[in-house]
Amino acid sequence: MHLEAGWDGPPAHVHERVDHLWYVLAGEALLTIDGRRDRYAQGSCLFVPAGTPHAFGTGDDSAAAMLQVDTPQSLDGYFRELVETFPPGLPVDPARVADIMRRHDTRPRDVSRSAVARLDPMEHNDALLTRSFELAAEARAAGDHPFGALFEVDGHVVAEARNRIYSDHDMTAHAETALVLILEREHLLDQAGGGTLYASCEPCPMCVGAMFWAGVRRVVFGLSSALLMELATPPGNTPVGFTITAAEIGGAAIPPMHFDGPHREDEAAIPHHGFWVP
Ligand SMILES: [Zn+2]
Repeated sequence: MHLEAGWDGPPAHVHERVDHLWYVLAGEALLTIDGRRDRYAQGSCLFVPAGTPHAFGTGDDSAAAMLQVDTPQSLDGYFRELVETFPPGLPVDPARVADIMRRHDTRPRDVSRSAVARLDPMEHNDALLTRSFELAAEARAAGDHPFGALFEVDGHVVAEARNRIYSDHDMTAHAETALVLILEREHLLDQAGGGTLYASCEPCPMCVGAMFWAGVRRVVFGLSSALLMELATPPGNTPVGFTITAAEIGGAAIPPMHFDGPHREDEAAIPHHGFWVP
């Protein structure tokens, strides 16, 4: 693939069955894998397993040539249709790309969109909280702390994240800060004030700050910090953490942030069972 400089590429997407191997032959590519966007110079080689959200393009200052190997099946038909529909120089229309994707083992990254948009507001709220609990379980399965978060705008899930403190060697990579980073990297910050962040657990003071500076004003959460502290403290040990609530911090902000929770704490606690205290 020859990627022109300053090319945004297709919207982030997922293949159900196809794995990619990417090899940067020349120049520098701007590649996003599972919410992480980085520049990759000539000689970089990356594996993108099926089911992993990804996107590719270039920065303004460099074109790139990239080799893509697909297994177990080729996506040639997909690329042929893309090039025929959007000849060089023509703007890429995300809705039409999504149509082409559907015909070739590919779906836009925003998977929850159609399923969630059909639900009534209460079910919608519940479905998104449930999804945050699933993301918390995914974080635990990946060896990180069991927390998940997602961001919804007008009934659509636009970004999802999980705790990544060990995966990223970054003690500040809580689910909510990881989510704010995705909103920033995917140019979604201008929607932050009009959406709702769903978190599996009441956000900590660091995350309340990060969300506030990103423009997030409304948060729905599952587990309370108080119950988390109980679950995470072995018998006879002194609890570690903050006793101030997210609502207290958010209420002291100008403009204020609104926190709605705790909700469904029994379910929200499940990914924490046996994690902090054996
Ligand atoms: Zn946090």
